[in-house]
Amino acid sequence: MALIDAHGRNHDYLRISVTDRCNLRCVYCMGDEGIEQLPHDDILSYEEILEVVAAGAELGISKIRITGGEPLVRRGIVGLVREITSITGITDLAMTTNGILLARFAAKLKKAGLNRVNISLDSLQPEKYKRITRCGELQPVLDGIEAALEHDLKPVKLNIVLMKGINEREALDFLQMTLEKELHVRFIEYMPIGDHDRGYRNHYLSLGYIEEVAKNAGLSLSPVPLPGGAGPAESYTIPGSKGTVGLIHPISKHFCDSCNRLRLTAEGNLKACLYWQDEKPVRPVLGNKEALQALIREVLSSKPVEHQMAPDGICGSVKPGTMRGMSKTGG
Ligand code: SAM
Ligand code: SF4
Repeated sequence: MALIDAHGRNHDYLRISVTDRCNLRCVYCMGDEGIEQLPHDDILSYEEILEVVAAGAELGISKIRITGGEPLVRRGIVGLVREITSITGITDLAMTTNGILLARFAAKLKKAGLNRVNISLDSLQPEKYKRITRCGELQPVLDGIEAALEHDLKPVKLNIVLMKGINEREALDFLQMTLEKELHVRFIEYMPIGDHDRGYRNHYLSLGYIEEVAKNAGLSLSPVPLPGGAGPAESYTIPGSKGTVGLIHPISKHFCDSCNRLRLTAEGNLKACLYWQDEKPVRPVLGNKEALQALIREVLSSKPVEHQMAPDGICGSVKPGTMRGMSKTGG
């Protein structure tokens, strides 16, 4: 079985937002006041999530990423990890987390079968980290990174959203993190997801900037295969370093032609593309495997060829992009 869309792309990857709740309020993800939270009953139960994963696995989904909101704030998350790994056909289970609670969870997650983590970290300066996340302390995240390395949740990837006027001067510090430790530092372009127009327009910066910083510092970036398999990042290494540098540029270089992912939102809507508004609720078809699998195929069959995120923030389509922030869709 394979999930191939109308543009010939094979889909073997499902990203699941297990909650819209978060213990941070990052400037590029939420407004000042946070988000209006979904009522508890609107969020898919773990049983419901597992049903979707099992149906997807029969169709060819083999990779799962648990994300959010912040997945580690949802009670029982370790049990969900254990259950997902026991589903036939699932060969890779990863999590994206802000790392605040990771030191506490790393050993249990590993034992339950989690393969690896991506940790979001946009500044190495405590005050700036607090400003970007609007409330976060840096040290617990650094402890979470150490715990992930110690408990072999590898490759340990760090996600850095590059923001002009906010953290771009730290680019070299992040590049240098790969020299001494087995860390995979990935710079991501700021995306106009949700209603963050102003932030996006003021702070978007193309990742060409990172290549310049590396060059000016005399660091050569040599292409290497992606750690941990396929994905949208271009991957490089600084010769002699232990880690890698990833560049994920959804805006300056589209990678839609290699997109292999579907998404399940916290309230149970299937989305074929992060950017567009199109989504279908799974709840009406739960309990009926054939109908659920038909829904997965239907969502895939209308997957657009590409997103329309542009550097100037102006979407080149009459159809609007999503107004739903990343914490609700699952980044
Ligand atoms: N709370 C977890 C975390 O922060 O890692 C998981 C959810 S978060 C929405 C997933 C990823 O989306 C993070 O790495 C975050 O940096 C990224 N993200 C959120 N909003 C973004 C935006 N507007 N542009 C680019 N990346 C964004
Ligand atoms: Fe929370 Fe992650 Fe969004 Fe930051 S990026 S507010 S940590 S969901």
